[in-house]
Amino acid sequence: MGLYLHLPFCKDRCTYCSFVTTRDESLQPATVARLTAEVRTWGAALARPRVDTLYLGGGTPSLLSLEELAALTEAVREAFDLTPLVEATLEANPGTVDLAWLQGARRLGWDRISLGVQTLDDGLLRRLGRIHDGATAMEALELARIAGFQRRSGDLMVGIPGQDLGRVLDDARAMAATGLEHLSIYLLDLDKNCPLKADVEAGRLALPSEDAVATVFEALQVELPKLGLAPYEISNYARPGAESKHNSRYWERRPYLGLGPSAASQLGAFRWTEEGNIPAWAEGRAGVELQELDAAEELAEIPLLGLRLHRGVHWPSLRARAEARNLAPLVDAWEVQLAPFERGGLVIREDGILRLSERGMLLSNGILSTFV
Ligand code: SF4
Repeated sequence: MGLYLHLPFCKDRCTYCSFVTTRDESLQPATVARLTAEVRTWGAALARPRVDTLYLGGGTPSLLSLEELAALTEAVREAFDLTPLVEATLEANPGTVDLAWLQGARRLGWDRISLGVQTLDDGLLRRLGRIHDGATAMEALELARIAGFQRRSGDLMVGIPGQDLGRVLDDARAMAATGLEHLSIYLLDLDKNCPLKADVEAGRLALPSEDAVATVFEALQVELPKLGLAPYEISNYARPGAESKHNSRYWERRPYLGLGPSAASQLGAFRWTEEGNIPAWAEGRAGVELQELDAAEELAEIPLLGLRLHRGVHWPSLRARAEARNLAPLVDAWEVQLAPFERGGLVIREDGILRLSERGMLLSNGILSTFV
């Protein structure tokens, strides 16, 4: 299985963020202690299961001291069998890392780092409430390389109010020039309440038009492969072999255990999400929202998640699986709904593989709603 640990602390709140995270440092010791205890409890309950991908996310895991990170890493090593481990990722905020911390993390066995860069435009970084500037983000990428992280990922955001969309391409080029191995490009998502959403709704800030944003994504689809970063998922580009193995398991529906406030898990047909109330979680009073997927829901997740990947979904296998569960009519219904997208060139079928075209990737929400 994959193991995800959520560390819900940040130096400051970004204006667009709706993740479960807090600035209240006083909660950190109890939360880290609880997370360590949960690691031990779950490792014992599952009889020290084999873990092949590990991910410490947040929040800002790079706020942990090296001592705290060492203790947490050691607890994971004792509680889980890491013999098959192929990837151990740390998320980090460029404004919180220095060379000594990165070298220490590397020595503890973390071999991949994901840095939230977002943009190299200092004015926009301030608007986003980020605690770093563009130069610091570039420096963090370089320090991670010097510290020995051979797999570095950076996040870029598209659709920030006031963003010069041509600048996104320049930022992507600058980041690629550092030799980084993985790039995630996200559309700013203001679905949930956050200060930036309030500013947009009040008319104080304006989002770029959908057409302008689509043009940037199209340009990135052309430009990034020329820089050695090939698309492998709707939002993700990587050099050959540097695709995120942990995140891939979400799209491939392989099992994962998530620990920490708001962390999600999926084992077999069961999925659960831990409550996001941080003090309650730290005190062991938090609840869990449990869902058992029925056969149709499990089947629908295969194309819903699998079509996010550029390699697509093997449709005859999906149909065979559906027939074995008496769910062939469901696949028939999907075929009917997908037909206009296929005719429009948004969905491509080749040698039994169904996948989204590049244009289909841009319009994926409408297509993937077929399976919801
Ligand atoms: S650093 Fe990340 S998790 Fe923390 S507030 Fe900003 S966006 Fe949210």
